[in-house]
Amino acid sequence: MHRRSFLQNSALTIGALSLAQQKLLTTFFDDPWKISMLTKNIGIFTERGGTIAFLLGKKEIVVVDSQFPDQSKHLIDELKKRSDKPFRLLINTHHHGDHTAGNISFKGIVDHVLAHANSLTNQKNVAIAAKNEDKQLYPDQTYTDTWCGKHAKENICLYYYGAGHTNGDSFVHFEHANIVHCGDLVFNRRHPFVDRGAGANMKSWIEVLDKGIKKFDSNTTFIYGHSGTGYEVTGKADDLKKFGDYLGSVLKFVDGEIKAGKSKDEILKATTIPGADEWKGDGIQRPLQAAYEELTAKA
Ligand SMILES: [Zn+2]
Ligand SMILES: [Zn+2]
Repeated sequence: MHRRSFLQNSALTIGALSLAQQKLLTTFFDDPWKISMLTKNIGIFTERGGTIAFLLGKKEIVVVDSQFPDQSKHLIDELKKRSDKPFRLLINTHHHGDHTAGNISFKGIVDHVLAHANSLTNQKNVAIAAKNEDKQLYPDQTYTDTWCGKHAKENICLYYYGAGHTNGDSFVHFEHANIVHCGDLVFNRRHPFVDRGAGANMKSWIEVLDKGIKKFDSNTTFIYGHSGTGYEVTGKADDLKKFGDYLGSVLKFVDGEIKAGKSKDEILKATTIPGADEWKGDGIQRPLQAAYEELTAKA
């Protein structure tokens, strides 16, 4: 359905929606997809879900992450206008639906889908539980530590440094351009989702970010899965350091509260985290709860 006709059809019923729902609808329609080119042939696509990156080569197209089915269709349509080359490779930074649900739009048009082995396992587990395996396009290629491949004059390398946001997050490095897609290893000034059910670990996450900072350099441009209002989805290594410090602040705060005898419910009532002033907005309970569970988990 076209956006315009949807709006017309919906106009009569919009009045019946709550203010929050109206706001959500307005945000949705005021926020169409956007493409920003980072170099002549590498760009990012944002609409709804985790930031997508793409490489338009002279002979082929490579895409990193796929948002949701409608969003990936928007991306594919637009890239087809800019290039008549085939989609060779779709990379998933990790399994979450806001990064892989759009894979299905690439069915039959992309040669290969690549992700960390744990990302594939997680994607399958979630899809089986949700009974929507028919809506998935799974990776047909996986790796465990490092994967590198040549595509369109780029050397693309994936690195796995251990548990972070899940147990299957990759850094995706376009070496020549020196651009790294971090997936959800970085929530830039936004409270993160910590998927403990899929093996996330906040202490290890800090180490993963440190390894990324050491591996890449001060000229590297990083792409983030998500950012807080008013913050960019791209930046430099300092953002990774800041986010690692933020995770450390959450763990330190919750540890102190536990030691002070506070209950889980009391801890989850916090509205700010000391030392993490730039992290505002919704979702603070998620990292607090994850930190509480991690710190109180029996070894
Ligand atoms: Zn995400
Ligand atoms: Zn995620």
